[in-house]
Amino acid sequence: MILHHATPQAAGRWCDEQRAAGRSIGFVPTMGALHAGHLSLLRRAKRENDSCCASLFVNPLQFNDAEDYASYPRDTQKDLRMFAAAACDMVFSGALGDFFPGAGSVAGIPVKNAGPFGRGLEEQFRPGHLDGVRTIVEKLFAAVGPCRAYFGEKDFQQCLVVADLARQFDGVEVVACPTVREADGLACSSRNVLLSADGRKKAASIYRALLRAKTLWNENVRDAAHLRRAMDEVLAAAGAAVEYADLRDPLAWSGEPPAGEMQRAQALVAARIGRVRLIDNLRLDG
Ligand code: AMP
Repeated sequence: MILHHATPQAAGRWCDEQRAAGRSIGFVPTMGALHAGHLSLLRRAKRENDSCCASLFVNPLQFNDAEDYASYPRDTQKDLRMFAAAACDMVFSGALGDFFPGAGSVAGIPVKNAGPFGRGLEEQFRPGHLDGVRTIVEKLFAAVGPCRAYFGEKDFQQCLVVADLARQFDGVEVVACPTVREADGLACSSRNVLLSADGRKKAASIYRALLRAKTLWNENVRDAAHLRRAMDEVLAAAGAAVEYADLRDPLAWSGEPPAGEMQRAQALVAARIGRVRLIDNLRLDG
């Protein structure tokens, strides 16, 4: 049995007790529907800290599409078994009002700006999404207190936004963790279970597009337009509806797409396979 707290306040008290006993905390925020990607974060948090805790909260603030929120997979009992199997010590959830006391509904919650790393890409195609992420993660960090917080690089822009947020907190360190993939390269995602059999095959084209860009990079192609076009071609051939297949300098984030020759590059893709929106990314240099 895993310790499950129903509110962030109770979770905060548990975290205080851990630290008072000299135990470091590894924290993994999740929206549940756990998969191998989450498990890798949980195991690492446990390995690198004395105690591992996680949050389980489907954050309505980060869904800019009501249907996406409604259809997001939820299975708390199964998740609790998986948290326990990953040797997570404590998991907490909460109602919206526990995170935002006094707010009667989503509409009443003041949403924070995602900051400089929220610009471009996700901002353009999921307006408000990263603002909603930053708003809830601020509450989660405040509840847990000093910790190492583990996030997946699959959500690359999110990692940058939360690392920027962590600078506001004493003793919160963000650890970015590598993307866990299925056998054909598709990044593990809670949304993968929503894919049809045909969609599942198409979805593998996202990683193929990223690998195509990496191959070109290894052949010394540095031109942003060339790399972008190559990813578009792979995705179009598979019938994926591309939102973006773009590049950024991972160490100097910009809302604007790069032009000309690149020195460093992160390739990032968002595509819709049927009604399912998937994202992935790959570092091309290094
Ligand atoms: P979510 O439940 O989708 O909000 O994800 C919770 C955490 O798991 C986030 O930090 C994600 O970036 C991370 N994550 C999701 N998918 C993967 C994956 N395939 N590999 C590694 N981490 C992941």
